[in-house]
Amino acid sequence: MRIYNSLTKKVEEFVPHTEGKVGMYTCGPTVYHFAHIGNLRSYLMEDVLEKLMRFSGYEVKRVMNITDVGHLSSDADTGEDKMLKGAKREHKTVMEIAKFYTDAFFDDCRKLNIKTPDVVEPATSCIDEFIHMIEVLLEKGYAYKAGENVYFDTSKLNDYYVFGNQNEDELMVGVRDDVTEDTNKKNKNDFVLWFTKSKFEDQALKWESPWGTGYPGWHIECSCIGIKHLGEFMDIHCGGVDNMFPHHTNEIAQSESFLGHKWCKYWFHVHHLNDETGKMSKSKGEFLTVSLLEEKGYNPIAYRFFALSSHYRKPLVFSYEALDQASNAYRKLKNKIAAVTDEGDADPSVIKEYHDKFAEVVGNDLNTAMGITLIYDVLKADIPGKAKRTVIADYDTVLGLDLLKEEPADNNTGEDDELTKLVEAKIEERKNAKKDKNFELADKIRDDLLKMGIVIEDTREGVKWHKA
Ligand code: AMP
Ligand code: ZN
Repeated sequence: MRIYNSLTKKVEEFVPHTEGKVGMYTCGPTVYHFAHIGNLRSYLMEDVLEKLMRFSGYEVKRVMNITDVGHLSSDADTGEDKMLKGAKREHKTVMEIAKFYTDAFFDDCRKLNIKTPDVVEPATSCIDEFIHMIEVLLEKGYAYKAGENVYFDTSKLNDYYVFGNQNEDELMVGVRDDVTEDTNKKNKNDFVLWFTKSKFEDQALKWESPWGTGYPGWHIECSCIGIKHLGEFMDIHCGGVDNMFPHHTNEIAQSESFLGHKWCKYWFHVHHLNDETGKMSKSKGEFLTVSLLEEKGYNPIAYRFFALSSHYRKPLVFSYEALDQASNAYRKLKNKIAAVTDEGDADPSVIKEYHDKFAEVVGNDLNTAMGITLIYDVLKADIPGKAKRTVIADYDTVLGLDLLKEEPADNNTGEDDELTKLVEAKIEERKNAKKDKNFELADKIRDDLLKMGIVIEDTREGVKWHKA
């Protein structure tokens, strides 16, 4: 397998620390709200990566944290506490919020065929480990106390900016908002390991520590949870690109200072899903969740298909039009697969040949779009139907697209290809008529479709149709 490593900025041959085994870590969600489909793009691509590793013969142990404490609205330790914000918004306790949104996150994952990692650990269950790591960092001189908090001293490292020699000012305004300065910090990018003097009088969760009652900073959780479950050497660490700085940079600073050696070899970052106005948000514009897509009649797996159709290292723009296109392509693909009969036999050597081809092609820096193309190739191949179905089932263990599951692919399924083509052509014709201000023709097209038993609706996201 070859994979792009954000540390070296190159596509590299993947060589794990222990032959045949992979220790994989994923930064989990901050459970103060639903995940938007942008967050889920990251989890989706990480899910495919994990499945591809298993497909390629590795034994994988995957670990994910759940952030239920310590994450402020700016990743640079300033702004409001996210969990507290969620609790206030819903008049619930922080733990109630954490439970509700953790469950909601895994519900979304299930709908998107994202496998639950082998280990899922909430930050609040590892406080002793955090305290231990902070003690060691203080002992070794990598941390200091100031203003009753404990900070990591970034000036103690020769190479703090491991992901590149970014300009500090640029970094600080980073991807997230709300950046104000903390005067306790000796260096601009020092970060909090333990908050004791909280500026939030009503901080809900607090623990005893050698530095007084308080709570951990955000970054420490991933270092501790990663080392706890995967040992001193991690093979691959995943997250969205916005995690690169400061979160992952700080994780590396803490972990390597604590361990006294290099920690994680490969860093995998998924680029953002944006909406047409730019950055996807949980508070502004339409809050795009899996449930919202379902309410609008989309099969969540059509979103998975949409995400897999583009490369994880390119930003992806979401629009309903693009999702419609993906839904249609997905439905047609499923129909084609459903038409493949189970005739003939599945020669193991043929199956293996196709298996190896997929591992090689998709294993070249997670080329999921090529993975989908390979399915079309299988459909066209001169091999028996049974072999085709076996190969497709094999590929689907990585792609997770329910390719052989016989059920409606989305709300328009059940229509045959010809009908879909016809209705789509009529909709296009009507759109052009409207553009030309020929409303009479536009209405006629709608009425004609209605006579055929097809209802069309103009929605904010474009024209939708279904059978009457
Ligand atoms: P959070 O719950 O905010 O900590 O984010 C969860 C994950 O989603 C992190 O790995 C982020 O890097 C990632 N993420 C945030 N926004 C986006 C986006 N628009 N597209 C893809 N991934 C994202
Ligand atoms: Zn993390």
